Amino acid sequence: KVKCKSGLYGCLFTSQPYLSFHPFPTEERMRLLWVRAIRRDEGATFTVRRGCTYVCSLHFQDDDIYVTPKGRRRLKSGVIPSKFVG
Ligand SMILES: [Zn+2]
Repeated sequence: KVKCKSGLYGCLFTSQPYLSFHPFPTEERMRLLWVRAIRRDEGATFTVRRGCTYVCSLHFQDDDIYVTPKGRRRLKSGVIPSKFVG
């Protein structure tokens, strides 16, 4: 099951049809910016693992996301999560 990892306790939202889930960037500098943006520190309780750690579309601006010809929602390059509730 895919879960959003943003926020101290993780986002409450799990796989919903209206959400898309986006993996962390592979580029180190961008990855660190994401970790900072979601207010978590990599350590014992949180690690970014490829294919396991996602941030859901709730934390991105509408403009940050585009739809591929196949209908998949993807992030534009250089985008950092920026919307957080609470
Ligand atoms: Zn989320």
